[in-house]
Amino acid sequence: MKKFLKRLFCKHEFKTLYNIHGDMINRCNGHRRMNKCIKCGKEKLGGGLEPNCKRVNG
Ligand SMILES: [Zn+2]
Repeated sequence: MKKFLKRLFCKHEFKTLYNIHGDMINRCNGHRRMNKCIKCGKEKLGGGLEPNCKRVNG
C-alpha cells in the first residue's frame, strides 16, 4: 500500500529500460520502448527506439 501511494504521488522520471523488437511490438500495441521510473519503479510503454540502449525485449 505504501508503494502504491508512492507511485501515485511520484513525479515519474522515466529512463529507457529496453527496446522492443519483433513479435513483442504487436504485444505492446506498437510501442518500441519500455521505460522505467528511476524513483518508484513504474514501467511504462512509449516512445521510439533508444539507440543507446542495448537491451532488447526485456
Ligand atoms: Zn515514478
